[in-house]
Amino acid sequence: MLLKLFILLLLLVQDQVLAGETHSSSSEEDGSSEHDDDEHEKSSSHEHRWGYEDQEAWRSAYHDCNGKSQSPIDIETSKAIYDRSLPAIKLDGYDLTDQPGLKLHNNGHTLQLSLPSSMRILKGFDEIYLAAQLHFHWGTIEVPGSEHTIDNVHFPAEIHVVHYNSKYADLAEAARKKDGLAVLGGFIGIGLHENENYEKILSALTDVSIEESNTMIPGFNIRHLLPNNLEKFYRYNGSLTTPPCFQTVNWTMFNDTITVSRRQLAALEKTLKAGQNQLLSKNFRAPQLLHGRRVLASFSASPSVDSANTNTFTGEKSLPKVKTSGTFDDMSKGDVLAIAFGALFVMTLLGFSAYAYQQRKKYSKIKKDTRQNVIYKPATKEEV
Ligand SMILES: [Zn+2]
Repeated sequence: MLLKLFILLLLLVQDQVLAGETHSSSSEEDGSSEHDDDEHEKSSSHEHRWGYEDQEAWRSAYHDCNGKSQSPIDIETSKAIYDRSLPAIKLDGYDLTDQPGLKLHNNGHTLQLSLPSSMRILKGFDEIYLAAQLHFHWGTIEVPGSEHTIDNVHFPAEIHVVHYNSKYADLAEAARKKDGLAVLGGFIGIGLHENENYEKILSALTDVSIEESNTMIPGFNIRHLLPNNLEKFYRYNGSLTTPPCFQTVNWTMFNDTITVSRRQLAALEKTLKAGQNQLLSKNFRAPQLLHGRRVLASFSASPSVDSANTNTFTGEKSLPKVKTSGTFDDMSKGDVLAIAFGALFVMTLLGFSAYAYQQRKKYSKIKKDTRQNVIYKPATKEEV
């Protein structure tokens, strides 16, 4: 009986330990850091008419849209490869003075802000990349419109800050080169408060409501349009998400989201027009197949200290973490072990006591018998 209980306990403990190990081994991966660049974001607005309603038609009209390194993609967090050697991104010249102003343009596909080439990505890639423009992708109140998705979930909107390799003359030339473009992308979610930095653009929306209209807005710190935390990002090789779909973009998607108010998002969703007075909305391309490409992550998605602590200083919402139950699992594993060993100790003690008691009983009986023998033997002997 005691042996059976002991075996049962051992099995229980072993199960718990194994379960804990399988959990943690799937939460973090390591990888190497190579990534060829490809592709890039829309370099000009002179292409033929294309629309988001029939994205399959892009494939016949634009050869590159059929490629195997297309964007956007779904970022499957459990498959992203943690690469601790990915260099941190360092921006320079993003803090613009209000003059000269920046051109805000409704090109019929998006809302685009032209940026000066004095803004650049100084570190993070093999070369320096210069800014050219930023633009947005969005949906409607009912349909979230980010282009990239995280574990198949869309965010309400997405910002793309487009840069080109400084070794090329301009965006148009770089857009056709393998290492031509670097786009910094951020997910835009809904928060409780107005985002005053986004308001610097959104307050001018009504001035560009008609397709091909422009307006000038004062310069400001463009860095504030991106998440506070630029250290956590995903990286992969992809393409422009609009025709001609050149596969020349080195993509960086930040993990932390930016938030704007519901009202601000609604303004983006409902103000701009394209073509014959149609609403410019749902300007996002469907996720494309990876075709074996790898998505790198600059951070570990494991439940450990960094995912719990890093969020606090950003003041922003973080994307859902892959394993949030890790701490709980660890605690319950500890508890089970403690209980098991406690029980084992008590049972061993009981077993030992029982054994000792039996032994003592047996011993005293033998002793008694012996004593009887001693007593009676001589008597019988004497009788004999
Ligand atoms: Zn874009």
